[in-house]
Amino acid sequence: MSRSTVNGGISFWYSQEGTPVPREPLPGDATADICIVGGGYTGLWTAYYLKKAVPFLNITVLEGKFCGYGASGRNGGWLYNGIAGRDRYARLHGHDAAVRLQQAMNDTVDEVVRVAAEEGVDADIHQGGVLEVAYTPAQLTRLKAFHAVEIAFGEKDRVLLGARETAERVRITGAVASTWTPHGARLHPVKLVKGLAAAVEALGVTIHESTPVTEIKPKHAITPYGTVRAPYILRCTEGFTANLKGQKRDWLPMNSSMIATEPLPPSVWDTIGWDGREALGDMAHAYMYAQRTADDRIALGGRGVPYRFGSKTDNDGRTQPATIEALREILVRLFPTTAGVRIDHAWSGVLGVPRDWCATVTLDRSTGLGWAGGYVGSGVATTNLAARTLRDLIQQDSGQAGGTELTSLPWVNHKVRKWEPEPLRWLGVQGMYAAYRAADRREAGARTIETDRIARVADKIAGRH
Ligand SMILES: Cc1cc2nc3c(=O)[nH]c(=O)nc-3n(C[C@H](O)[C@H](O)[C@H](O)COP(=O)(O)OP(=O)(O)OC[C@H]3O[C@@H](n4cnc5c(N)ncnc54)[C@H](O)[C@@H]3O)c2cc1C
Repeated sequence: MSRSTVNGGISFWYSQEGTPVPREPLPGDATADICIVGGGYTGLWTAYYLKKAVPFLNITVLEGKFCGYGASGRNGGWLYNGIAGRDRYARLHGHDAAVRLQQAMNDTVDEVVRVAAEEGVDADIHQGGVLEVAYTPAQLTRLKAFHAVEIAFGEKDRVLLGARETAERVRITGAVASTWTPHGARLHPVKLVKGLAAAVEALGVTIHESTPVTEIKPKHAITPYGTVRAPYILRCTEGFTANLKGQKRDWLPMNSSMIATEPLPPSVWDTIGWDGREALGDMAHAYMYAQRTADDRIALGGRGVPYRFGSKTDNDGRTQPATIEALREILVRLFPTTAGVRIDHAWSGVLGVPRDWCATVTLDRSTGLGWAGGYVGSGVATTNLAARTLRDLIQQDSGQAGGTELTSLPWVNHKVRKWEPEPLRWLGVQGMYAAYRAADRREAGARTIETDRIARVADKIAGRH
């Protein structure tokens, strides 16, 4: 790690936008029609759509730090149509149900772009699609299989590109093929979450920041400053859920880390290409994701130390020096001309991983408790679909509307078992990622076109497939 690299400070995106001064905390006991816990994309989008649908609703958002403190202010800015668990939902509810879920996700990418424009939120959105690249024979096999599965899900506009066509888009060392879908955009995560919070507030939603909720009970959100009583309490705390009383083993806080380079000069961009500014990823087991930012940096992320014992989260985004170095090595391996460039910032964040790796959105009609999350790293778009679904579920429950296309999607009210107690949880996740890294190393040096068996075993143990 170079001495000039800022480590933490929530994220690089905040170093550009400035860390906000928190809004006033909850002044004491209060009542609301709907209380939302957590001011990330899930909570804010939910407040947005509910207030738009029923303007007289009294909605309160309680945020422990400030809106966008979590993954919504730290992510890679891939707004794309992936949703965690789609293939499992196909097995549980049938292919057609999963196809409807996929189509809803495709529409969601456009919906986020549409609302951002309508609300005047300039989040540096560029709709260049998503490009996922293979650079080993085993990755190529997985890429082709992935492409075939997507086509079977009706994703007819997803294309498979050879080495030359890939290089015409982005020149990555050793890339043998890629797949591209138009259902994706690059954005600035903090510009989106800040704009969304402002839009929600302008609609008349009350936001209290620096207000951590310690416990959620039916009709009660309890904080050190008072309790908000509301018929509906919606938990939108994703990777931080384990901090809530009774919820330690629900969603595992998985760590993801990122680096951002200095702005790269035209001479370096000439060697890389990437004029289409696609969201860029690869087919490694411990995969990377990257974007070309609006000010011509590369922001690239991947898995560092994946999980902290006891479901702990990081300290304002600080990440390990070894992780920064590992991400820099990936950057330089992909783009050798970045070898000398400065890494301006490194940071990390947590995402929520359910035991079966399936995102869910739920409203328990008997208690009025709702929640959405478990997005496993695909939340920038999925949070928007979750929010519109929570709106429809609440309208249905309160008798204002019937069921809708969204309330019938297969991820609604899906139940999942808890994670194992420690130390099994820690051992399992560490073991899984050690296996993925070993498999990536073995695949990189091998000519075999098969996925390394270590990764297949790790997938099975983790419950991913
Ligand atoms: C480094 C990183 C990169 C990622 N990259 C991508 C990407 O490129 N594309 C993609 O689709 N997804 C990505 N993700 C995932 C995506 O960012 C998340 O799925 C999404 O932001 C989740 O939004 P959320 O509102 O549910 O959770 P969060 O944004 O985590 O918000 C939860 C909020 O709840 C607050 N909170 C927590 N506990 C309490 C409490 N007890 N009381 C009050 N408030 C509380 C937190 O302070 C936080 O503000 C990434 C995630 C990380 C960490």
